[in-house]
This record gives sequence, structure tokens and C-alpha cells, in this order.
Amino acid sequence: MTDAVTLPRFAAQKGRRTRGRTWWAQRWVDDVEQAALDSNTLKGGRVYARGGLVGPLTFAPGLVSADVHTGEETLHVRIRVDQLDEREWGQVLATLASRSGHVAQLSGGTLPRELDDDLAAVDVSLVPSMFDADATCTCEEWDVPCRHAAAVLYQAAWLLDDDPLLFFLLRGREGQEILQIRHDSHEETSHASFDRSCSPVSASDAYAAIPGPLPAPPHTRGTPVRPGWLDDAPPEVRADAVWSAIVTAISRYGDRA
Ligand SMILES: [Zn+2]
Repeated sequence: MTDAVTLPRFAAQKGRRTRGRTWWAQRWVDDVEQAALDSNTLKGGRVYARGGLVGPLTFAPGLVSADVHTGEETLHVRIRVDQLDEREWGQVLATLASRSGHVAQLSGGTLPRELDDDLAAVDVSLVPSMFDADATCTCEEWDVPCRHAAAVLYQAAWLLDDDPLLFFLLRGREGQEILQIRHDSHEETSHASFDRSCSPVSASDAYAAIPGPLPAPPHTRGTPVRPGWLDDAPPEVRADAVWSAIVTAISRYGDRA
């Protein structure tokens, strides 16, 4: 079971940039702002977010939730996003397996843009679309998202800046679990290839081993032709004996084939 994560609330931060530092947090915020119906509501959300009135935030599979304390009342905000299905998680795992650099970057707190590009090619995204999100709040405002939900969404971007693995949790799986699966997979793959190619063998075993079959001998045709140089051999060389040895060797080689 995938656990929810609750993160410490932000203190008031006057003048803080609300749209995130990283490309993935900025995409999250861009999506929020494009899906919103009223820019004044977003402005109110930014004021709440910077004012330290939100939190702590909880991330869970398919859900970001937090309370917003306005001083007059406490509102309960829940933002539901789509989780990835089995096919989509299969694509994520396959993509991570295909490039070990992705895992290294994720472990270092970076969501690689190339990973996003690779997943987009198979119609998968780790960054949820706010156009598919469902934001609810216990206030009576009509805007969607209301100022309180917008504040939660902005602060969620700040947390995603520092920890893009929260996208994995939102999409239904724990990021560390995914990275561990990929790490173990790489370990098994490297061990398996080592076993196949580098099993140690002692020198005595290697020399004692029965050699494999010899390659087939070249096809020989007819009777060997006696080379002329044998007739011009020095007197101490018995030309007939040399010739006899050559013929014997060739015939034995042919018999073994
Ligand atoms: Zn509200």
C-alpha cells in the first residue's frame, strides 16, 4: 500500500516567487492558471500561499489536501488528480529501464525533461493535468479553483520543486519504491551478464578440459603432388622420407574427417 506524505507547512514568505523554480513546477502552475476561470481568484490564492495560511500539505495517491486558515475560519481543500493505470506505469518503468541516467537524476532531485519527452511519446505524463483535476473546498465560493484551493496548488508547486518524486506518489506509486525496483533490476542485469561472460576458471581446469571439436578439414582432391624442391634438397635431407611423412600426415588428417 502506498502511504500518504504530510509535509511541514510553510511560514509566511513575503515576495516569494509563487510559480516555482523548476520546469516541472512551472508546468504544474501554468496548468493551474490556464484551467482557472478567474485571475482574481488566483491572485487571492497567491496571497494566501505567501501569507503562511496553508498547510501542512498532504500528498497521497491521486490527492493533494490541506487546510487553509484565514483567521476567520479553517477551510478543508482536496484536489483530486488522475492516477496512472497499469499500462501507463509499465511505460514509466520501461522508460526508466531504458536510460539509467533518468534514475540517477531522479535520485538527485531532478525530473529529467528527457524522461518527460520519452513518456509524452507514449502518451503518458507524470505531471497531472489540472484540466482533469477536481478541486473541492468547504468554502462557499463559486470559483474553481477557489482562492483556498489555488493557495494549496501554489504551495504544492513549491514542494514539487524540491521533490519531483511526489509526482510518482500523486500518480499512485511511491517514487522511492520505483527507483528501488529500477536499481534492483539494473543490479540483476549486471550480475547476470557477469556470470555469463566472466565465470572464473582455474588454469588447471582449463588445461584439463576436453577441447571442443576441431573444425572440418579443408576439402582435398586427388593425390598430393610432390613439390619440385624436394628433388633439389641438400644431400643430408632424405627427400623420399620427407615426402613419405607429408603424404602420411595428409592421409591421416583426411581419415579423421
Ligand atoms: Zn475555498
